[in-house]
Amino acid sequence: MPLPPFFDYQKERGLMIEGVSLQQLAQKHGTPLFVYSKAAVLAALAAYQKGFAGREHLICYAMKANSTLAILQTLVRAGCGLDIVSGGELERALSAGVAPTRVIFSGVGKTRSEMRRALEVGIGCFNVESRAELDVLNEVAMGMGLQAPVSIRVNPNVDAKTHPYISTGLKDNKFGIAHEEVLDTYAHAAACKGLRVVGIDCHIGSQITSAEPYLDAMDRILDLVEAIELAGVPIAHIDFGGGLGIDYAGDTPPQADALWARLLQKLDTRGFGQRKILIEPGRSLVGNAGVCLTEVLYLKPGEHKHFCIVDAAMNDLPRPAMYQAFHQIVPVQPRLDASAQAWDVVGPVCESGDWLGRDRELAVQAGDCLAVLSAGAYCMSMASNYNTRGRAAEVLVDGETYTVIRARESAEDQFRLESLLPPAR
Ligand code: PLP
Repeated sequence: MPLPPFFDYQKERGLMIEGVSLQQLAQKHGTPLFVYSKAAVLAALAAYQKGFAGREHLICYAMKANSTLAILQTLVRAGCGLDIVSGGELERALSAGVAPTRVIFSGVGKTRSEMRRALEVGIGCFNVESRAELDVLNEVAMGMGLQAPVSIRVNPNVDAKTHPYISTGLKDNKFGIAHEEVLDTYAHAAACKGLRVVGIDCHIGSQITSAEPYLDAMDRILDLVEAIELAGVPIAHIDFGGGLGIDYAGDTPPQADALWARLLQKLDTRGFGQRKILIEPGRSLVGNAGVCLTEVLYLKPGEHKHFCIVDAAMNDLPRPAMYQAFHQIVPVQPRLDASAQAWDVVGPVCESGDWLGRDRELAVQAGDCLAVLSAGAYCMSMASNYNTRGRAAEVLVDGETYTVIRARESAEDQFRLESLLPPAR
């Protein structure tokens, strides 16, 4: 399988990310270590920017994919707004220097205090997911003497043909307001004194690898916009969410610019060419830009299975355990002298679900460094402290140089907020 852009093997130095040796990074900073290519992030963004050239638009990076401050800064400095889903993400977003008006707030369970804080800083838009949430937001905004800018997230009932856990646009998913209830909900929102309707929103799922679900969803959303505006509620922007897939296992999603060429053509044909477009891509901006480096601790050949035990685990990289997701795993310094055999690459966590890859043909020995590819999205941001394992360090590479953008978490960092009981009597 080919390597993602900005990664390649050099004869002596092994696997490189831009101009930096991954082996050297692992030696100097230890493992597990997440390493990202700034050029890869910016190239992924450039594909979207190319697609939208000359159009009024805002690319709101869905920061849940990877919310490390330096990654946010990289995207914000290159022109992105941000899509957030919690008060914590709002504080991160502000710390990364984004203008609050370029932040949109998604998610089904916003609390009153999160709403208050977002209104206080002047957030760009709330993507509201239920009638009950609309009412609470109205109340909170009126209490502050403000009007909350709102979009309603519509569930277009489109099958994104992706893993059930990352499909969000079907009737049975918890997200968005059902298609049939949308008109009434807009009429209600428009009548609320604490709300100002600014847009419509949808997001149909993640790791989508074809254009068709987007084209279907767009038709449904545009039908709704026509109906809502006919009923007298103007819609200033249309937000088509995120969801574009990346190549994990030979997947062939459309390029962002090619996808948007098709979608914008549909918008033009249907007479919405002048409308401001928002999108919320996450994975497709950062997923292929990162790797997780891990050291082989022990080899444990068995009767039926051979286990390659590494120092990264499900707490660092939860996607395989959570969604049976596939990540390519490659040696950082390939062994040309040894023959490969099939290994299950597993972590040290006390769960049988703690695996990173199954039946991988690898020529490895204890002490070798492996790279888990396409680990830029939904890995570090989903990492946990399970088994009191400190979260990994992170490095951002830029050409021949790099910056440590997150230090390795120590045991003390993990229990800093806990208290011991008073001495036993
Ligand atoms: N927008 C919303 C509302 C989401 O829930 C998500 C992901 O779950 C995204 C955007 C980003 O999706 P992706 O990372 O697949 O682009």
